Amino acid sequence: MTKIADYLSNSAVENVKRAIAKAQENEDYHALLALTETRALERAAKVDAGLITGRLKGVPFVVKDNFLAFGAPTTAASKMLEKFDAPLQATAVEKLEAEGAICIGKANLDAFAHGGSTENSAFGPTKNAYDKSKVAGGSSGGSAVVTALDIVPFALGSDTGGSIREPASFNDVYGIKPTYGTVSRYGVVAMASSTDSIGCFTTNAADAELVMSVMAGRDPKDMTTLPDFFAPTEVKPGQKIGLVKDFMTDDVDPEVRARVNDYVAKLRAAGHSVEEVELPTAKYALAIYYIVVPAEVSSNLARYDGVRYGHRAEGVKTLAELYGRSRDEGFVTENKRRIMIGSYVLSSGFFDAYYLQAQKARTLLINEFDKLFENYDALIGPVAPTPAFAIGANTADPIKMYLADIMTVPASLAGLPAISVPAGETEGGLPVGVQLIGKRRDDARLLALAKSLESTEAKQ
Ligand code: GLN
Repeated sequence: MTKIADYLSNSAVENVKRAIAKAQENEDYHALLALTETRALERAAKVDAGLITGRLKGVPFVVKDNFLAFGAPTTAASKMLEKFDAPLQATAVEKLEAEGAICIGKANLDAFAHGGSTENSAFGPTKNAYDKSKVAGGSSGGSAVVTALDIVPFALGSDTGGSIREPASFNDVYGIKPTYGTVSRYGVVAMASSTDSIGCFTTNAADAELVMSVMAGRDPKDMTTLPDFFAPTEVKPGQKIGLVKDFMTDDVDPEVRARVNDYVAKLRAAGHSVEEVELPTAKYALAIYYIVVPAEVSSNLARYDGVRYGHRAEGVKTLAELYGRSRDEGFVTENKRRIMIGSYVLSSGFFDAYYLQAQKARTLLINEFDKLFENYDALIGPVAPTPAFAIGANTADPIKMYLADIMTVPASLAGLPAISVPAGETEGGLPVGVQLIGKRRDDARLLALAKSLESTEAKQ
């Protein structure tokens, strides 16, 4: 797999042409919903003429199709936004372009980022880079696969409950979900505003540092962005790491546990200490997440009414019919399920019993993490309970699908940085990632830890 540095001294036009050709060769993975070839080549010519320069000069990248970006519609993999041309670009995209990077395409995802396999895309699933019969993971499945297939050296994703980490783990690439508020969410289609985080996929930890350094920072257009804090760092031996026992139960695939244990052994060999720790509230995290997130989803998706923008049903006679039919035609089943659950838990009769209780339990989880971080520099565990599962295996049962998120949602609910690091593969050749979770604003330390172990990694 290539690194960002491999592109910097090439002609930008050549970089873009190579990326586009590679994307076309790999069309059968369905990782991309659109190429932004015309605009990419125009920008590449400007880079080659010396009119645009920067730390990512001429480096091609891909954005998940819920980022507003020019050159192709921003669909969020939904019929609702199928023809939506963005009037502006996401801050993250603008910042990358200002450093000379060139967006070559829009990646497939679960519609509106609702899902963990990319099977909820209104335009069909993305296939796993290592086994086409398996899911790519999700919701940023397309972004993970274009990175794994070496179409581009990095891609952007959004992570609300695992959508960067899980597909990174399923496709053997690095994925970072930063501390909540690190990167502006401005210009990214909202899923759940209290956990939505913007991050990236890369082929190594140093590239993640570089991309994060460019994207991170306060944005007046997103009031939840934190003051600038992200700065690449190094770690010394002697870091105290907690292995989360609650993530290593018998329900977790033995090969996944084995890869985590291998990584733990490597951490120890590098001079760090690893001890088992408990996070008892983690067992409620999925229940909390699937109340809080649908609540926010139902509110964020209320804007798609067929009147202002997005899909509008034809041949309707009344306003109610316009709303109803536009939403029925524009949303996939999973979107509708979340709108229903969210509206229910927020309704006056059930708010106290569900939403309020969930927020209280969320606070308990946050406190439990904070307590652990008084004694530990980072936590480690699997990213997901299994490697990539077969396409179609979980689609009939939403609960089964939600269970794949069990180890990624805790860090999301607590706003903590968490990364997925390649950690080898199963006997069947499927990649497995480990998850490192850090203190708020300790994103760079996690990447540094991963970087320090990279040379000993089995597969790169
Ligand atoms: N799989 C999780 C869900 O379905 C996470 C989605 C995400 O992070 N966008 O909610």
